[in-house]
Amino acid sequence: MAISPKKTPISEQDPKVRAHNFKEVCLGYTPEEAMQEAARCLHCKNAPCIKGCPVAIHIPDFIAAIKDGDFEKSFDILSQSTALPAVCGRVCPQEKQCEGVCTVGRMKDRATGMNNEPVAIGKLERFAADWKAAQPAVKPEPVPYNGKGKVAVIGSGPSSLTVAGDLAKLGYKVTIFEALHLPGGVLMYGIPEFRLPKAIVQHEIDNIRALGVDVEVNVVASRTVTVEEIQKNFDAVYIATGAGTPKFAGTPGTNLNGVFSASEYLTRINLMHGYEFPAYDTPAKKSKHVAVIGGGNVAMDAARSALRLGAESVTVLYRRSVDELPARIEEYHHAVEEGVKFEFLTAPTEYIAYSGDDKNEMGKLVGVKCQRMELGEPDASGRRSPKPIEGSEFTLEIDTVIEAIGQSSNKVLLNAWPELKTNKRGYIEADEATGGATSIEGVYAGGDIVTGAATVILAMGAGKTAAQAIDEYLTAKAAK
Ligand SMILES: Cc1cc2nc3c(=O)[nH]c(=O)nc-3n(C[C@H](O)[C@H](O)[C@H](O)COP(=O)(O)OP(=O)(O)OC[C@H]3O[C@@H](n4cnc5c(N)ncnc54)[C@H](O)[C@@H]3O)c2cc1C
Ligand code: SF4
Repeated sequence: MAISPKKTPISEQDPKVRAHNFKEVCLGYTPEEAMQEAARCLHCKNAPCIKGCPVAIHIPDFIAAIKDGDFEKSFDILSQSTALPAVCGRVCPQEKQCEGVCTVGRMKDRATGMNNEPVAIGKLERFAADWKAAQPAVKPEPVPYNGKGKVAVIGSGPSSLTVAGDLAKLGYKVTIFEALHLPGGVLMYGIPEFRLPKAIVQHEIDNIRALGVDVEVNVVASRTVTVEEIQKNFDAVYIATGAGTPKFAGTPGTNLNGVFSASEYLTRINLMHGYEFPAYDTPAKKSKHVAVIGGGNVAMDAARSALRLGAESVTVLYRRSVDELPARIEEYHHAVEEGVKFEFLTAPTEYIAYSGDDKNEMGKLVGVKCQRMELGEPDASGRRSPKPIEGSEFTLEIDTVIEAIGQSSNKVLLNAWPELKTNKRGYIEADEATGGATSIEGVYAGGDIVTGAATVILAMGAGKTAAQAIDEYLTAKAAK
């Protein structure tokens, strides 16, 4: 049977409607649609898709189970490799990973001579996870204590949830310390509701809690509990405190009223119920014309959130071209469909303050001076570096700027723990080959606090290998 060149279409909210609400954009496959899409998979012997997946999910097998209508089996196969399939199915950059190397996506369609679309692996993963979540709840049973030790996990993002789940399944006593009032890390406070509903993340956290993991929120490790207390009370530690400190470009006018970091903007919306506007009176700025600086996932999330909070116009300023955009391609397309404007090869040079007579308006942002760029030779990162074009300056009328140009490591814990070695970029030195071992015996680290801002699946992958390493370490210690 010939394979359909295109992915099975998936329902989405109408762009005109969804641009004004925070409900999830993608509505997911029906069982029939999922089975139809699963039938496009060739079950390749060499399975390049598995090699493209940072946690090596058994992709052909979970898809074959969907094709057979055995969704329970499909979920079980996924669960062998990932604790967060509903999350990964929604936010992983599949086009750069599993789907990017899928054999179907490399075959040419005879009729058009164009490349086929790869199998919709991410959407199928999401389908299996959502199907399972809709079944009568069977909470996982805690595994009896193995007597080999207690583990402290600092932070509660995807890396921490993975290490905690895997260690609990091996019978360890695990306590997660989270500084914020909700666990989940960026999954809760960064990625907006319209991409990753909080209920989905909460469901996955509930499952990890059901395994016996103790989650203590409002606890800043190094302040609420000291480093000494943690070392005294636990046999091993896993640090996954992320890269949550925003960077600013240092553009003149950054201190004006109306200039935000994307971290602050998104955290207010996510943790202070901005996404449930108008039911909650969240202190979020009512903006008319918004400029978002940057081109990654964070920039797309900020731009689309600003639109949903009622902005008349939202413009993304990105200093390279669309081909270099680091955001997931699906999110870029969604943003365009919803009405977000893009000024490529454009950089802000100054944020302009109000200059009239009204004293109440003093210090407020009213515009952004911009300059057009052209791409020169590749820089240290291998990407062609943008260079300003003389005489190309122009000004946009803007009352809100959201800078989404990257994050750096959170220093609160690192400053209190000088024995913990960090690298030149300010991230923890952890040896991947030994499952994230740090300069301190029994202390492991992974996720964005080691790699710098990266992806959910890489953070999870680090958590998986660290769980194995911590198990080996504590097993050896217990045998002494
Ligand atoms: C807006 C946004 C959108 C993104 N979109 C995507 C996407 O679409 N796909 C993708 O793959 N990746 C995406 N990412 C990146 C991804 O979310 C991160 O790579 C991932 O969450 C890193 O996980 P982590 O476990 O290392 O840390 P985090 O998720 O950052 O969690 C760290 C946690 O540690 C807590 N913490 C920090 N210090 C302490 C302390 N001293 N004591 C206690 N707790 C502490 C923090 O409060 C936080 O909850 C996005 C990131 C952002 C910000
Ligand atoms: S590479 Fe694509 S077609 Fe081959 S097994 Fe993986 S998902 Fe199926």
